[in-house]
Amino acid sequence: MTRVLLLGGTTEASLLARALAAAGVDAVFSYAGRTAAPVAQPLPQRIGGFGGVTGLTDYLRAEAISHIVDATHPFAAGMSRNAVEAAEQTGVALMALERPPWQGDWTQVPDIAAAAAALPQTPARVFLAIGRQHLAEFALAPQHHYLLRLVDPPEGALPLPQTEIVIDRGPFRLEGDVELMRKHGTEWVVAKNSGGSGARAKIDAAHQLGLPVVMIDRPAIPPRPVCATVQGVMDWLGHPTLRGV
Ligand code: NAP
Repeated sequence: MTRVLLLGGTTEASLLARALAAAGVDAVFSYAGRTAAPVAQPLPQRIGGFGGVTGLTDYLRAEAISHIVDATHPFAAGMSRNAVEAAEQTGVALMALERPPWQGDWTQVPDIAAAAAALPQTPARVFLAIGRQHLAEFALAPQHHYLLRLVDPPEGALPLPQTEIVIDRGPFRLEGDVELMRKHGTEWVVAKNSGGSGARAKIDAAHQLGLPVVMIDRPAIPPRPVCATVQGVMDWLGHPTLRGV
C-alpha cells in the first residue's frame, strides 16, 4: 500500500499536494511550523519537527509510510539529511523534489558567512533576501542598511542595527521587485540559490537595475534520487496517468 509523507514548505510541495489529492493518493503533508499561517493543503497535515532521525524513523513506522517525498527548500539541509538517513534505516523509498539551481553572472559564495564578507566595507543599502534565520551572520557587517523581506513580522529585536522590514510572501514578480528596490535605493542584493521562478524575480530585478548580486550556494546533502517536476514524482509513485494535473 502506498502512503506518502510529503515534506513541505515550498511552492513545489504545494503543487505536488494538489496532484496527490487529485489522484486520491494516501498522503500526509508535513510542515516544520516556521510560519504563523502556513498555506492550507488539500491533504491531511501535520506540523512541527519529528525529533531528529530517531523521531522520523519512529514516525515512518507508526504511520506505515511507504514513500517520502522531500520537497523542502534546498536550504533546509537538516531535514533533508535526516530524511536520507531515516529512509536508509527503515527501507522507506525516498525521492527529492528539487528545483535546479539558477545559473548566472554574480558573486558566488559558499555560505552565509561568506556572503556577509563579500559585501563592501563602505556602508551600502543591501536587500538581504535570505529569510530571517541567519541574519546574525550579517552582524559582522553592521555598517550597511538592510532591507529584509519576511513572511511574518519578527519576534523580538533583530541582530542588525539598521533594517527596514517588508512583510510579504512569494511568488514575487519582476516589476514588483524592481519597484521595491528602486523605492528602497537598493545597491546590493544578497540571495540564496533557491532555484525556481517565484524567488527569481529579485535576481532579474537586480540585473535590470544593474545591481551586484551575492549568491549563496546550496548546502551539501548526501546523494539521493532527485526529480525536478511534480509529474516526475507522480510517475515514480506509480500514478503516471495524471498528466496535466
Ligand atoms: P532545516 O534547518 O532543514 O530543519 C530544521 C528542523 O526543522 C528539522 O531537523 C526538522 O526538525 C524540522 N523540519 C524542517 N522541515 C520540516 C518539515 N517539512 N516537516 C517537519 N519538520 C521539519 O529547515 P529550515 O531551513 O529551518 O526550513 C524549515 C521549513 O521552511 C522547511 O519546511 C522548508 O521547506 C521551509 N523553507 C525554508 C527556507 C530556507 O531558506 N531554509 C525557505 C523557504 C521555506 P526535527 O529534526 O525535529 O524533525
